[in-house]
Amino acid sequence: MASERAATALGGSKEMTLGVMGGGQLGRMFAHAAQQMGFFTAVLDPDTHSPAGRISHHHIQTAYTDPTGLARLAEVSAAITTEFENVPAQALTQLAQSRPVAPSGAAVAIAQDRAAEKAHFVACGVPCAPYAVIETAEQLAAVDANLLPGILKTARMGYDGKGQVRVKTPAELAAAWADLQGVPCVLEKMLPLALECSVIVARGADGRCVNLPVQRNLHRDGILAVTEVYEGNLPPALAARAVAAAKSIAEGVQYVGVLCVEFFVLDESNPAAAGLGGLVVNEMAPRPHNSGHYSMDACDVSQFDLQVRTLAGLPLVQPRQHSPALMLNLLGDLWPEGGVPDWAAVLALPGTHLHLYGKLDAKPGRKMGHLNITGATVDGVRATALEAARILGIAAF
Ligand code: ATP
Ligand code: MG
Repeated sequence: MASERAATALGGSKEMTLGVMGGGQLGRMFAHAAQQMGFFTAVLDPDTHSPAGRISHHHIQTAYTDPTGLARLAEVSAAITTEFENVPAQALTQLAQSRPVAPSGAAVAIAQDRAAEKAHFVACGVPCAPYAVIETAEQLAAVDANLLPGILKTARMGYDGKGQVRVKTPAELAAAWADLQGVPCVLEKMLPLALECSVIVARGADGRCVNLPVQRNLHRDGILAVTEVYEGNLPPALAARAVAAAKSIAEGVQYVGVLCVEFFVLDESNPAAAGLGGLVVNEMAPRPHNSGHYSMDACDVSQFDLQVRTLAGLPLVQPRQHSPALMLNLLGDLWPEGGVPDWAAVLALPGTHLHLYGKLDAKPGRKMGHLNITGATVDGVRATALEAARILGIAAF
């Protein structure tokens, strides 16, 4: 979209609506950022109670592939984005016939398929875990023994560690693939991880690319639990390599929008890390990411502001983090039967920022919200976060 057009709509006399495929918490926080800048928002999500649908000006309640729903979204929206990577890529392609869509269906299609994604990383010159694509019994039989022990991952539709099986022997691998109904998979070598990190980049249609500071992430049971972002969270040279790699991955697909790239930092004292250079890319998400939520309270431009800017053709500026930050994910497990966590005790701690997604049922593993903690010093932020975790029943980190 031409930036003059966006500029006219910002505070102008005519309403301008930004559309989003998907009504989860990422769509909701995108809508909040868009509304802050005066945009109207439209959400397509079949769920009546979707977190973003409830707070948007338009909520189109149809399936993601419904031609009438897609036509309606295109009709009301000046430009359209997505908040989850499993949106049918052809739906984005259809929308793109009449409206600017960012990211493109082609970029989302790569992120939807682990095999295509890894091929893209390799093409961009960014190392990933050694892997093999398994789509046929012949490919299964031909697997290199060096990839074991490994993790068998379904090529499509995996998230939060779902669709993954750890395997040690060829027999376990064969059994795991059979259990997964023989769907296309990727077998990855199990790597010795020292830690995990991720980088959010935003790239505009003009090719300008900016990044948030590198996030250090702790996962528990395959789900992000804690993100820490402050000077010294990672060796600076490693952080710089991760940023450069994320930018080249975005560049390589002429990406427009917000992209999160997740990395493994390897324990190089372990022989299984030999020859991989210490940093390997894990996967990418074609949207804002759970690990970038700290930016809402700790940076002068959040990941959702960046998404609005890329979609509306507004200028991208390099974000500045103004406060050390730590994010605690709030999963449904923390909700007591029939009640809610003790928010008053948490909010009594200075520097806590509570974000809840408006979800009605707290189920184990369900992302209900997050708590950002900011403060003047890293030690202070960590101490407050540990106290909040204790109150909420989150294990110390
Ligand atoms: P999400 O999309 O929610 O981030 P996912 O289901 O796509 O998760 P992955 O990111 O592939 O899953 O893996 C989940 C976690 O499992 C990783 O964050 C890491 O802790 C561990 N893991 C995955 N692959 C490997 C590997 N090759 N070696 C060691 N650990 C791994
Ligand atoms: Mg992951």
